[in-house]
Amino acid sequence: MTVNTNILHPNQYNTDVKISKERYTNFDNDTLKKFGTDYSYKHQIVWKNAIGFFILHILGIWGHFIVFTGGIYWQTFIWGALLLVTSAEGVTIGAHRLWSHRTFKATPLLKTILLILQTLAGQNSIFTWCRDHRLHHRYSDTDADPHNSKRGFFFSHIGWLLCKKHPYVKELGRRIDMSDLQNDWMIMTQKKYYPYLYLIIAVIIPISVPYYYFGESLKNSILVCYFARYVFLLNGTWLVNSAAHLYGTRPYDKKLQPVESWFVSFLTLGEGWHNYHHAFPWDYKAAELSMHFNQSATFIRMFEKLGLAYDLKTASPDMVQRRIIQTGDGTHYALGNDEDRNAVTCIGIKHPINPTYTVKYQDPTVMLAIRGLPLNHQDDYLEPNVLKRNVAAS
Ligand SMILES: [Zn+2]
Ligand SMILES: [Zn+2]
Repeated sequence: MTVNTNILHPNQYNTDVKISKERYTNFDNDTLKKFGTDYSYKHQIVWKNAIGFFILHILGIWGHFIVFTGGIYWQTFIWGALLLVTSAEGVTIGAHRLWSHRTFKATPLLKTILLILQTLAGQNSIFTWCRDHRLHHRYSDTDADPHNSKRGFFFSHIGWLLCKKHPYVKELGRRIDMSDLQNDWMIMTQKKYYPYLYLIIAVIIPISVPYYYFGESLKNSILVCYFARYVFLLNGTWLVNSAAHLYGTRPYDKKLQPVESWFVSFLTLGEGWHNYHHAFPWDYKAAELSMHFNQSATFIRMFEKLGLAYDLKTASPDMVQRRIIQTGDGTHYALGNDEDRNAVTCIGIKHPINPTYTVKYQDPTVMLAIRGLPLNHQDDYLEPNVLKRNVAAS
């Protein structure tokens, strides 16, 4: 492949939606020297997805209505709640903390359990989930981030799934290192047979149990145990990409867009301590502290005690302290200062659990070089020679 030596300024590609593929694929390290968010770029809507997600949400809301009006047996409720919590852990502990970030190691038994639970969640195969997520961390809040929160709440929440990927997401997504998962037969088998596994694990089993064993109607079984719990979990996961990048404080690194959000952590079993998580993505706790709204960290430690998880990685207190002092926004509970804490604002009661709790300082401007941000440890940037090799190979 020939390498384009012209440097493309991000604003150069803005007005033309049907840009030739060449313009994005022929880049070298200089081409993407710094890129952020080009607000004049218009994403193309994929109507099939938009209509699909709209119908999914209508049916999900209908399912919730049945639950809240007491239209189901209590056994069905327990079953639905169990599916919801376990599939959430399949995403959080499995796809996120184990496979995307390698924050700990798991025995084949635990991997199998997490793989089944991740399939139950219906958020695409582990391979695809992790590729998108590694890209999200490497190029957070830029055009190469699949759910770039600089494009606002709607885009980072669900909008990104309703339109064509930005060319940088496609191109840099191809270059992200996925070799560990490509060499894992379990992950690749799940990817290969995903539609069948999904049908059995996420659709047929959840619906059949209440219908055959609890005497629940087929309609209620489908609306509650498939649609309602699926839509609830999807929105919980999406809040990590939207709310936890927009509303909250940045005690660990004010240059990172992600924030600390009690509210999102409460809903997602510990995934809302997001400023910390983006500062130290290799930490199994995904938070500095693990005792507040972080059931996932507790479960990982429990798995360790049972001999199912080992080699748990965590950032040392010293490393965390230095980061807070050097790059934090001053709102840290122990190492912050009153002036910065007083700059916290919100709509309504001023308490971190309030979802609108945020700092009044402006969000950072995010411009990244192609080497991206660290992923597996603090010095893990994409080496230019690796990129060059990939450019040559593609
Ligand atoms: Zn994030
Ligand atoms: Zn992550």
